[in-house]
Amino acid sequence: MKFQQVYYVLDPQDRILWIGGEWDEFALANGGSGAGSNRVLATPLARHVAGETTRAALVRMIGAVRDAAAPLRIDYRCDSPKLLRRVQLTIQPMKEDRVLMVHDLRDARAFEEALPPWHAEASAAARKCSFCGAVHLPGRGWTFAEDLGAAHPTAVDYAVCPGCAAQIEEAVASLRQRRAPGTPMTGGFGPGAA
Ligand SMILES: [Zn+2]
Repeated sequence: MKFQQVYYVLDPQDRILWIGGEWDEFALANGGSGAGSNRVLATPLARHVAGETTRAALVRMIGAVRDAAAPLRIDYRCDSPKLLRRVQLTIQPMKEDRVLMVHDLRDARAFEEALPPWHAEASAAARKCSFCGAVHLPGRGWTFAEDLGAAHPTAVDYAVCPGCAAQIEEAVASLRQRRAPGTPMTGGFGPGAA
């Protein structure tokens, strides 16, 4: 769970054509299927992303990059139980409707209080945002993982919190408007107010 960089190329049908970097650790850290890199080639990216709304958000961002022929860049969290990690994803258009996805680890620091290990489970009552790592517990609303500490649930259904959903929509809308052609879009992620 110490990947520094992972990159892969998607074909026009969003199947993985080619992988570089530490895919195996990256997939596990993201609640993915855990399939090794030698087994994911030619499979759909969606198969390795937990959470229906997370998959839908990726499809929207990748689609906007293809349509605008311009890159999109977002920051997200990919925490482990002990480490708060910030990752930057750059979605880069390529020739023939291919897309390059680059995940760069930007920062990693220890949580003051380690979180219990958690796993993805579609039927879990707790939802966890795939982008900022905040957790929605019944009756409690969205809370950042670092504020939960030991109260972080051990089973989570991956989703997208309202704040991150709004940031993604804004990034997609900006790209489609091409206000600044070729300029990567950067958004600050978080569950936001209310
Ligand atoms: Zn979020």
